[in-house]
Amino acid sequence: MVMEDDPIFDAGTGSHLTLDGRVQLDAILMDGASLKAGAVAAVERVRNPIRLARCVLEKSKHMMLVGSGAEQFAQENGLPLCKPEDLITEQERAAWLRCREDSHAAENHAGHGQGTVGAVALDSLGSLFAGTSTGGTCCKHTGRVGDSPLIGCGCYADSEWGGVSCTGNGEGIMKIVMAKMAVDLLAVPPGDPYELQARPEGSQAEVNRAQFVADACVRKLAHRARTTGGLILLDRDGNPAAAFNTPQMAYGFVERDGRLRIAP
Ligand code: ASP
Repeated sequence: MVMEDDPIFDAGTGSHLTLDGRVQLDAILMDGASLKAGAVAAVERVRNPIRLARCVLEKSKHMMLVGSGAEQFAQENGLPLCKPEDLITEQERAAWLRCREDSHAAENHAGHGQGTVGAVALDSLGSLFAGTSTGGTCCKHTGRVGDSPLIGCGCYADSEWGGVSCTGNGEGIMKIVMAKMAVDLLAVPPGDPYELQARPEGSQAEVNRAQFVADACVRKLAHRARTTGGLILLDRDGNPAAAFNTPQMAYGFVERDGRLRIAP
């Protein structure tokens, strides 16, 4: 919620605008113990969609609600609705206006390239949760839903193996079902044919399994979907890893002793 409220990120307030000038938000929270997720997509009047996703996870028999139905569910469960324009910042509106004039030229994105937010958490009892929240891609068609709120694409958590949150080109991430791919790779033993094909050519078995998996997913995204993205990952023992082939991806993690480590 802190990251959603911070306009620097493409989630909650300050998200990128759709082609017709709206903010439409997607989010998911997944419980690795039950494998149940709560997801919402294309919501326009919810300040913290990750909170609504949690509400779906905890209180709905369904896993995903979209648009007006998701907003109705928020109201039914006491989550306040905001005005759609409350989520729009001046900076994003200005970028959107430039995109309209200049058919989405790359320089319009200077200063508004910050992305989706995600988190994976493991507690001392072994409960594992992963979550992802986004405003989606800049100038997306109204109604477009990317990978972020889709179970197995933008997020996955299985207490038996690990949890993952993804970012990047949603249409590409969906092609390789990247979050589930990462968890599946955590589960296969070294030497398994699935693991062997994920190794870089000629390389030996990995030393750091979590990092090997994160790197393998980004390699696959580049080679099979021919696009860019990244992921953060926590294995079932709490080992963190992150990988990306975008120009940048900010990430950090909490050490076992409580110290915060932020990526260089
Ligand atoms: N994956 C998100 C989407 O396609 C965007 C992002 O992560 O920057 O909606």
